[in-house]
Amino acid sequence: MPKECNFAEIERKWQQKWEEMGVYHYDWNDKKRIPFSIDTPPPYPSGEFHMGNVLNWTYFDMVARYKRMQGFNVLFPQGWDCHGLGIEIQVEKEHNVRKRDVPPEKFRQWCMELVEKYIAIMKEAILKLGCSIDWTTEYRTMNPDYWRRTQLSFILLYKKGYMYQGTHPVNWCPHDETAIADAEVDYVKREGVLYYIRFPFEGTGNHALIATTRPEFIPACVAVEINPTDERCSKYVGKTIVVPIINRQVKVIADRCVDPAFGTGVVMICTYGDKEDVKTVIKHKLPVVKLLTENGRINENGGKYAGLTISQARAGITEDLTAAGLLEKTEKITQEVGVCDRCKTHVEILERKQWFMNTRKLTGRVVETANEIPWYPDYMKSRLIDWAKSLDWDWVISRQRLFATPIPVWYCKDCGQVILSHEDWVPIDPKLEAPRIDKCPKCGGKHFSGEQDVMDTWMDSSITCAVHAGWPDRPDWKHLFPADVHPSGTDIIRTWAYYLIVRHLALFGEKPFKSCLINGMVLGADGRKMSKSLKNYAAAPEVLNKHGADATRQWAAAGGATGSDIPYREQDVEYGRRFLVKLWNASGFTAKLLADYKPLSAKDVELQPLDKWIISKAENLTKKVTDEFEKCQFNVAIEDTRNFIWHVFCDNYLEAVKDRLYNPNLQGTAKRLAAQYTLYEVLYRVLQLLAPFTPHLTEEIYEHMFKDYKGFESLQISPWPKFDASLVDAEAEKNGDLIMAIIIEGRHDKAEKKLPLNILVPQMTVYSGSIAFTNIICSAKEDIAGTLKVANLEVISQKRADGRQINPYDVYIKLTYETKQ
Ligand SMILES: [Zn+2]
Ligand SMILES: [Zn+2]
Repeated sequence: MPKECNFAEIERKWQQKWEEMGVYHYDWNDKKRIPFSIDTPPPYPSGEFHMGNVLNWTYFDMVARYKRMQGFNVLFPQGWDCHGLGIEIQVEKEHNVRKRDVPPEKFRQWCMELVEKYIAIMKEAILKLGCSIDWTTEYRTMNPDYWRRTQLSFILLYKKGYMYQGTHPVNWCPHDETAIADAEVDYVKREGVLYYIRFPFEGTGNHALIATTRPEFIPACVAVEINPTDERCSKYVGKTIVVPIINRQVKVIADRCVDPAFGTGVVMICTYGDKEDVKTVIKHKLPVVKLLTENGRINENGGKYAGLTISQARAGITEDLTAAGLLEKTEKITQEVGVCDRCKTHVEILERKQWFMNTRKLTGRVVETANEIPWYPDYMKSRLIDWAKSLDWDWVISRQRLFATPIPVWYCKDCGQVILSHEDWVPIDPKLEAPRIDKCPKCGGKHFSGEQDVMDTWMDSSITCAVHAGWPDRPDWKHLFPADVHPSGTDIIRTWAYYLIVRHLALFGEKPFKSCLINGMVLGADGRKMSKSLKNYAAAPEVLNKHGADATRQWAAAGGATGSDIPYREQDVEYGRRFLVKLWNASGFTAKLLADYKPLSAKDVELQPLDKWIISKAENLTKKVTDEFEKCQFNVAIEDTRNFIWHVFCDNYLEAVKDRLYNPNLQGTAKRLAAQYTLYEVLYRVLQLLAPFTPHLTEEIYEHMFKDYKGFESLQISPWPKFDASLVDAEAEKNGDLIMAIIIEGRHDKAEKKLPLNILVPQMTVYSGSIAFTNIICSAKEDIAGTLKVANLEVISQKRADGRQINPYDVYIKLTYETKQ
């Protein structure tokens, strides 16, 4: 083996070779191996592969590589979730336009170009990280072939009664001018102002004081509400009150939902200031006054404020209230407001005809499914369950945007009948193509208009478990469905995991995946959220270029417990790098010691105490690491393996058998062969255990030292070691621990006296507390004396140096460095 190792070169070489060998290829025709399918979440092309992505993909890849070695036919697909607001917003920025300023086809074209540019950047990083993806599975949700699947899923759900149109209040982003789902609303704390406004009672001269943060909604006030148990204002119930500025008379209604502690305990109900207003309007059957346009301006119902933006209207109305003497006071408050997760604009609530999926009908089954499957870590399932239970609206799946999958529906211009696309018409864009029928089935009309709205991006990406399995084209797609594992981040449980479950349940009546693996978020080294402005940001391509994939992957694997947030610390990656250097050097040294070794089988060797000791430990390590992989405890598995290699193998065993291998008197003896056999097999074992974490370097070492004999084309497809209980020998481990302790003690003694480790020791005496200890020590006399360079090793039983009785559990040593005069 070469002395120096160029990690970057090795990684590049193996990434290419594995691809050529087809190691990652999922064999669709294999009837023997059990399939294992990973529901890789197709990422949203953001043009950036960040450390959080490194963590995600390392998790996916460790599972893929481990399962491949376990003998599974692994499907590790990769798609791209292309559509959506994020890309449209980027295009608007880059071309300095709004979506309506250019022809839709031009705009879509720009979006697709940008997506391709972003995919290229991310793909390069995924390749560099060494992910074992089967690239023949690559797909893009913006392509017609994927539209076909998304549209087909819409058609099937429509037929099953899960899709409906309705005019319901929905979350609306006035900046992006589209409906958005609950999952796309972020909640942030913002400074706000609480306005105390006088609402006069009709004809009395009295007034009620109402506190609100949104005075601009006064023109849409349809009622005033109090809590009937609130003694301060229960007397108002049923009275008529006058909404200032617009002088509309509304009723004071009572509801126990009102929080008496907020403001004055009297609240105005507007259509719609917030989600609470929506609930109240439905419950008390109140009228609706629409106040906002789709781009967030006041409409004609706002009277003199019509045409103003929301903030302009607020300023105007408070000014007019002040002039009328109706604004009693203002107070600063901190409030939690919902903002659009893409553009951070304050989310409004608008009523407009939309398409919905009847998701709430399935909440019970979603909860059941979440409880049924294992989650890694287990506590993450409550995030999904809490979210599902908290949803009070159905999923609004229509968007008023361009870059998305079209909703495959037309309307009869004469009677309004909904014309649903046939299953075999898709992919189709109803904006460009007419339905393939002669006349409206209801009225015989011949004119149709295509649906202008498009689908939420999550409609594309929430069918991946079926799509990866080959739905709807492969008749045997159920062979790969449900997926074996859905890996995902804590930030997208409420979207990805939830939508996947709800959609597959509705479509196929089955859960989409058999288990869920959750990774946490990556924090800066200071423990805060990683961000460029906090200067704790690390760009993944730079980290990969500087330290290589195997070192970076070790950080991801070892950074923290599965599911917990982990900080990015460069020193962790550097530690990974040092470990690789150690492993490379130890392997090179081992290769030298094995230069004349022809691999033997276990029955041909006479194992010595230290050989049995490390073989037993390696066997126990195998059991432990396998269990940890099964439980997705990657951080424990990698620490156990690294510690074993670094300390048990390199620091202890390798040092302790060096002499046995170099000693000219032992050439060709069974003892020497036993050490060679043990070195060879134990190094091979730990390379296998490491292979899912650091695939490149382990493969390189395998190629140099093991491939010819072990015979597998790649370490990556060598069978994962099966725990062999017959090799575990508790006695041998205990004995070996004693022998190692004596060797370590001897080395400490030299170090303490500031002597070189290889100094010759004419005499060493071991005082052993019992005959049993003495026998153990004598059984490894050559290894002890050889390692410590002792000329004469004497073991004295049951007596101390001064001749007194020794404690039966004690052992101590004495090294004499000068020959007696
Ligand atoms: Zn927005
Ligand atoms: Zn019709």
